[in-house]
Parts: sequence; C-alpha cells; structure tokens
Amino acid sequence: MAALATTASAQTRYTTVVIDPGHGGFDRGGIPGQRVPEKIMTLDVSLRLKPLLEKAGYRVVMTRNTDVFVPLGTRVAIANSYPNAIFVCVHFNSATRSGANGIETYFYSTESAPLAASIHSSIVGGAPFENRGVRRRGYFVLRRTTIPAVLLECGFLTNPAEAQYAQTDAYRQKLAQEIARGILNRPALAARTSYTNRSSRVDVGLQPFLDQRFVRESGTKHRRHRTSTKKKSSSTPKKKVSSEEQ
Ligand SMILES: [Zn+2]
Repeated sequence: MAALATTASAQTRYTTVVIDPGHGGFDRGGIPGQRVPEKIMTLDVSLRLKPLLEKAGYRVVMTRNTDVFVPLGTRVAIANSYPNAIFVCVHFNSATRSGANGIETYFYSTESAPLAASIHSSIVGGAPFENRGVRRRGYFVLRRTTIPAVLLECGFLTNPAEAQYAQTDAYRQKLAQEIARGILNRPALAARTSYTNRSSRVDVGLQPFLDQRFVRESGTKHRRHRTSTKKKSSSTPKKKVSSEEQ
C-alpha cells in the first residue's frame, strides 16, 4: 500500500477523505418495509474503507461511525471544513421493483467527475453486478459540497441476489477495497483555482425528493427522509426516482 500512497500523493494534493455512511439512527434508508437496513450496510462498508485509506496515507474523517442520525447539512459542513479533502457518500439502492439491480455512481461538480469515474469503474470491475453507469445529479450532499464529492449506490438491497451479496462480510470487504482502489487510482483532479462549483449548477435540475440524500433546495427548509410508517403526503413530490426504477 505504500506504493499506492506515493502514487496518490504525486497525483494530487488531496490528503483527506471524508467518508459519509448514508442514513443512520431513525433513518434506516431504503424504502418502507425494506428487510435489509441500508444504514447498517453503509456504515459497515465505510468502517471497512477507513483503515484501507489510512494505510494508504490518507487522513480519514467519518461523518458518523455509529448508528446515529446526522443531518445532511451537518454532513456537508463536515466535508466543507476540509478543503484538501474528497467526499465519498456510501449508499445502497432500493426500489419497489425487486428486479431493479446494479451499481451506479453520482457526482455533481465537474471536478468530481474523474473521481466518480474512477471509483465506479473499480467497483463495477470487482462486483458481479450490473453497471448502471456514472450519472450527474444535483443531490444535496453533492451540490452543497465545495470539495470533490461522489455518491455511490453499491447495489440494490431490494434485489434478492444483490442483498444476499451485501449481507456477506466478504462482499462488503471487497466493496471497501474497490472503493479504496478507485480513490487511489483516480486521475489527477483539476486545480481548485480553475474551477468554481457554482458555474455549472444552472443546467442540472433539482431532483424530486425521495431519499435522505434527495433534499429539495427550494424553500428554506430541507426536507428529510419521510418516516417509513407514514403515508406519503400528497404534497411531497415523489415521482419514483427514475434511476432506481428504470
Ligand atoms: Zn441511501
């Protein structure tokens, strides 16, 4: 790993990785009635990822390292307080249709694209899952972060085959290794000075609210995850997200 660390530091001056395990506490993640809780899986993969990155020479900051709820704004604030960091949000996907499957990776800012591509190809290369591609989306945690940020959807917990994999230590360890590899192998990122996070935001529409990470930016409040037992209120725009259903 020492060699990898040298490579990484030669490529970029990013020295810190902020790992963001999705959901936590009362926010289980996923969809109502989902058997495998997303929050447990995201934390487990993240805790496996941490020592791998540390061994490679990175400083690692976790937005949570236990099963607690952390508001999205806090997660973003943590990320933004490390200017020499990259931000990696770990999630698993879910859909009402059990056949929905595969791995997808999201980014928003242009400077995040190489990181997203690198991690995505690494995960897809190491998993027996379908490749759903790298996508640009205006998720709250991606568009509010001022450092390179990616959101990984490491397979569908509502898909029987993928859920079965996700529940094995071996697969979660493999995922962590592939994420680490993707971070270490990423191409050099554009210099911060040549990029502004604001310049490209106009052309990406906001996503309909649906998950904790799908926070609407209109209005002063940021909606959070609806509770799983509640009926959806009709005022909540909740067209099922296309990325999970198509
Ligand atoms: Zn999630």
